[in-house]
Amino acid sequence: MKKPIVASLTAIACAMSAVSCNGNDNEKSSSEEKDEPKTNYSQYMKDYARTEFNDSLDLSDFDFQSNDIPADFALTLEAEEGTLSGETEIPSISLEGYSGNGYVFMKQSEGDSLTFSAQIETAGNYDLIFNTASSGGQKYNNVSVNGNKVGDVYTQDGTFSLSTVKQVYLEKGKNDIMITPSWGWIYIDNVKIVPASGISEDTYKVSSELVNPNAGIPAKQLMKFMSDVYGKYIISGQYASEGVSSAEIEKIEKQSGKKPAILGLDLIEYSPSRVEHDSSSQAIEHAIDWYYNYGGIVTFCWHWNAPSKYLINTSAQPWYKGFYKEATTINLDDIMNGKDNEGYDLLMSDIDAIAVQLKRLDDAGVPVLWRPLHEASGGWFWWGNCSAESYKKLWNAVYDKLTNEHKLTNLIWVWNGQNKDWYPGDETVDMIGEDLYPGEKVYSSQSSKFMEVTEYTDTKKIIAMSENGCLFDPELAIRDGSLWSWFCVWNGEFVVDKFRQLNGIYNEKEMWSKVYQHERVLTLDELPDLRKYKID
Ligand code: CA
Repeated sequence: MKKPIVASLTAIACAMSAVSCNGNDNEKSSSEEKDEPKTNYSQYMKDYARTEFNDSLDLSDFDFQSNDIPADFALTLEAEEGTLSGETEIPSISLEGYSGNGYVFMKQSEGDSLTFSAQIETAGNYDLIFNTASSGGQKYNNVSVNGNKVGDVYTQDGTFSLSTVKQVYLEKGKNDIMITPSWGWIYIDNVKIVPASGISEDTYKVSSELVNPNAGIPAKQLMKFMSDVYGKYIISGQYASEGVSSAEIEKIEKQSGKKPAILGLDLIEYSPSRVEHDSSSQAIEHAIDWYYNYGGIVTFCWHWNAPSKYLINTSAQPWYKGFYKEATTINLDDIMNGKDNEGYDLLMSDIDAIAVQLKRLDDAGVPVLWRPLHEASGGWFWWGNCSAESYKKLWNAVYDKLTNEHKLTNLIWVWNGQNKDWYPGDETVDMIGEDLYPGEKVYSSQSSKFMEVTEYTDTKKIIAMSENGCLFDPELAIRDGSLWSWFCVWNGEFVVDKFRQLNGIYNEKEMWSKVYQHERVLTLDELPDLRKYKID
């Protein structure tokens, strides 16, 4: 999530039972016995509170709906014949490569839109191929269908070229396909509508092998479970910084009767430059509690506050916004290309500090869906304010240090760079995550983005919606064949108000019930005992 995060966490009394404190004590004693193989987790199991598990999860193959659209169907709609609003206009002709009588120019004013009206005979999933040019440079702009955002039209440069928004469901009858400005400043010639190439069932046949050859048993068990259910179930998740007693989890449970299967946490407050400002965190304790006492799954991101040397630290750019590029002077290109060796050492030292925290989880036998260096290609965080190459070097350094130097065995590597060009490679990535914030109360399946992610690499990887602002409707995900492995709604305003009540802004109350009670969405109570999950 790229929204500001308030620095000072409310001091959270250790709301957990003595159990997780025992966990800490055990962690200390086990780390003293350095040569002990970390295969005996029974020391934690004695305090394990949960006794009821789901032993009968139906893992039979899922029936995907077939596409009934005639294979030769094609419909081209000219932009200049569409409905224009705001300052969107038909300009005088200055570009080549258009069809029909011209094209439309869209700037970036409030209320600008272009709507194509598509009359469709057969409901189903289609690909929308747009012919656009920009007034200069690449642009992304919003595409919505019948009022819901379905994807972005990408425009390469000042020459007309095609870009496809894939796997978009169109109803029988009239469909409004609308473009509104995000970056704006594009010429739109037409849209061609063809049957979607579709998401094949093979998409979900993934290997459960982890990239770290020395991965531990708990990580293997979790990965095996997640690959077994991939394409059959969607695993629910929720970011909640106070663990099980967070308002988000309490109120979701009050509404739906269920808790999420995945607890999302952030290592932000363990960043050394925040610790220097007396930040503290219970995130590790919450994770241990969630795994051992509730039988849940944990995911961690890390809003990496840059080393103090690079913090601007003014009232406009305070130290606690030090994960944003604007609040730092850090130049990752310089650091990764040997022009700032001190900076390199500082970053490596920060990774060492984070390794200490992750090691606590490893020693406790808690596997982690580990998602560092997220949303990089968006460019709003300092680790994305650089070339893709520098980012990949940093990713590899994080992977190498945690895996080979610190020998962590509990990490499942979730890459969330959000752009194919930033993909570091199959050798260091177990899963691919996308963070999606489509607006308010937009419950579409985001199948177009899912399709795009399947093309990041030829190797089949588990695809997750690693952060989301809006829940997606599982019925639509099934209809569109885009079964995200898991989702994890961001915390705070996406769920609750300041009075700790569901606020209904991004997600209506009924949606929490619909999603959490859906037979194809796994909630906490529906998980098997992951610590006993068969790897073979
Ligand atoms: Ca045209």
